[in-house]
Amino acid sequence: MEKDVAILVLGDQLSWPHPAFSGVEPEQAVVILAEVREEATYVRHNRHKMVLLFSAMRHFAAHLRERGYHVEYVSIDQSMPSLLAACQQVQKNRPFARLRVCEPGEFRLREQMENWSATLNVPVDLIDDTRFLASRQDFSDWAAGRKQLRMEYFYRDMRKRYRLLMDGDQPEGGKWNYDAENRSGWRGQCAIPARPNPDIDEVTQQVIDTVTALFPDNPGDLSTFRWAVTGETAEAELEWFCENALPAFGTYQDGLAEASPWLFHGLISMYLNCGLLDPLGVCEKVEAAYRRGHCSLAAAEGFIRQVLGWREYVRGLYWHHMPDYREYNALSAVRPLPEWFWTGDTGMRCLSKALKQSLDLGYAHHIQRLMVIGNFALIAGLDVPAVCAWYLGVYVDAYEWVELPNTLGMALFADGGIMASKPYAASGKYIQKQGDHCKHCQYDPKKVTGEGACPYNSLYWHFIDRHNELLSQNPRMGLILGGWRKRADDDRAAVLKWADQTLGQLEAL
Ligand SMILES: Cc1cc2nc3c(=O)[nH]c(=O)nc-3n(C[C@H](O)[C@H](O)[C@H](O)COP(=O)(O)OP(=O)(O)OC[C@H]3O[C@@H](n4cnc5c(N)ncnc54)[C@H](O)[C@@H]3O)c2cc1C
Ligand code: SF4
Repeated sequence: MEKDVAILVLGDQLSWPHPAFSGVEPEQAVVILAEVREEATYVRHNRHKMVLLFSAMRHFAAHLRERGYHVEYVSIDQSMPSLLAACQQVQKNRPFARLRVCEPGEFRLREQMENWSATLNVPVDLIDDTRFLASRQDFSDWAAGRKQLRMEYFYRDMRKRYRLLMDGDQPEGGKWNYDAENRSGWRGQCAIPARPNPDIDEVTQQVIDTVTALFPDNPGDLSTFRWAVTGETAEAELEWFCENALPAFGTYQDGLAEASPWLFHGLISMYLNCGLLDPLGVCEKVEAAYRRGHCSLAAAEGFIRQVLGWREYVRGLYWHHMPDYREYNALSAVRPLPEWFWTGDTGMRCLSKALKQSLDLGYAHHIQRLMVIGNFALIAGLDVPAVCAWYLGVYVDAYEWVELPNTLGMALFADGGIMASKPYAASGKYIQKQGDHCKHCQYDPKKVTGEGACPYNSLYWHFIDRHNELLSQNPRMGLILGGWRKRADDDRAAVLKWADQTLGQLEAL
């Protein structure tokens, strides 16, 4: 039996079983869990995320001790500069012969770890992260020789491989994708179930106090902290979702509601991404709800597509294209972020709601992230790295492997179309159709120019006009470009003039 192994468990790897523990007996190992300054400050993290992770790490450490492991735990108030420094400190008191780490999710950290062996003077084993349903190699094999890496085809292969929602060799119900049934706007058609909040225990309360004291200027209103911090409570959250929200999830997945930040969404990305939930288990639970007649096929398929399809696909894409991916800026977007991105104080109701809840709760659902905030950043040409840093900071589920393809690729089209087949640009009309914010807004979604015109409208046409050359190479943009070009010259000039004026005073919107 090999002696004196150290296992470093990262804050987003709180799963049991855990790949780095495989084949290691408790008496052989010292386990290191560390809350360190570098990880806590490399972007301006939401305090919800810090509390969730630190509390979940402390609970996980307790779980490992119960299993007989010796755990060395470093807490954030000890001001440990980095993960490497934490390993060095443990090594001084309890020398180890090798270090095992499950490969990190972010390129930044993986790059650093490549050099750790020289500093620690022991071998550092980076173990494959088997908690994903497609390994990096699986994705590379799938991508090899393909001109375009479209999610839909990847998703179909994953459905077949994991035999989820299958009827023999065919997709359940005869169709792979029920997206067309998942686009209804929100008009208060049914009651939104009230969500119970998981209890805050002593450990979490202690972390809330520490994070409040150490990070007074970070976003996040901790009086609203409502996240699960153990695998058990995360399972209970999933259970609640399947029983109460899943049946309406599909229909209102793309809805925008004044009344609720959550609508019928799962609220599980934060648990999947730190290991408290297992993606296959989640999909199986949702499929079981469909099989027992609790929800429609469209609801179950719509949900499974997100977890089995999108989530695995963006991770594959990230590793496939890094490190170049983070440098892309295909539309040369460089305009500084308005200050109100950090306060939510804008008169645009939809945007104000989405920004405030992102900052205060650390959560916004997909359509708020994509079609309200992301769409605005896209059509206003906001600076790509600054927008990405904002997204990586504010969300409780944000890690670069999932944030970057979604923000830089899907929302900002800065990868030139690797991720999305066309830019997700839209005018106020779309936002009006999807929800009830416009009724409460100082702007008029039907006006394109003049006092009170919805800023999304003129900025949308400005976007189409300024990128018309690039967009004309995209067959999916032909109709829109054709319509714009057919409009009278003075009409187009008036819209562009108003948009220029709007861009000149973004701070005042
Ligand atoms: C600009 C932008 C940035 C985003 N940044 C993140 C991020 O940092 N972290 C993150 O986990 N998701 C991110 N997403 C994807 C998605 O918005 C969130 O996963 C989702 O809103 C999480 O809430 P939920 O658990 O209630 O999701 P639900 O709507 O209930 O969906 C179920 C699950 O599907 C998965 N999923 C859905 N869409 C995606 C997607 N596009 N990519 C990856 N997984 C997906 C998530 O795990 C999610 O929990 C981003 C999307 C956009 C457009
Ligand atoms: S009018 Fe425009 S800015 Fe106001 S809520 Fe509607 S889409 Fe948003």
